[in-house]
Amino acid sequence: NSLEQTLISSIRNIPDYPKPGVMFRDITTLLGDARAFRRAIDELVHPYAGSKIDKIAGIEARGFILGGAMAHQMSAGFVPIRKKGKLPHETVRIAYSLEYGLDEMEMHKDAVAPGEKVILVDDLIATGGTAEAAVKLLRQIGADIVAACFVIDLPDLGGRKKLEALGVDVRTLVA
Ligand code: 5GP
Repeated sequence: NSLEQTLISSIRNIPDYPKPGVMFRDITTLLGDARAFRRAIDELVHPYAGSKIDKIAGIEARGFILGGAMAHQMSAGFVPIRKKGKLPHETVRIAYSLEYGLDEMEMHKDAVAPGEKVILVDDLIATGGTAEAAVKLLRQIGADIVAACFVIDLPDLGGRKKLEALGVDVRTLVA
């Protein structure tokens, strides 16, 4: 069966999580399925075979799992983008809005050298607010963002368009 079918059938939908009315896409089942996990990683990295990518930047926490596997396969470095207060060295920080209220994310100032080629990754893009903040942080320290990748797109929420408006190439595997 097709890649999209393999991936979709490995993702579990949880109604009313984290609150009533929300259908949560649970990728722990994809991660736990050896074949689906490998196919997802292979598909995320294959467009960049032969290009020199310096770093994969993953958004806490599920972006760490995907990004670590991608970085290994591409022989690239890995950069964690974390919730505030978790990183020990000097950071750059940005506030971004969640559904209710604000949060902040951070990255080490020296995590990427100016001009380095970076791919951003997270498991899912919804409104794009999280990824947009990550793009701004990366650009603040001079990263050249080659693409932003997500396993799941929720297209009705407009995230892809938000990133494309910033000039970011967006890749998603399933909608
Ligand atoms: P956005 O900022 O695009 O609105 O939300 C995306 C962020 O929220 C990502 O970090 C993603 O991991 C998380 N997220 C929102 N909804 C879901 C969901 O249904 N499933 C998963 N796995 N993550 C979600």
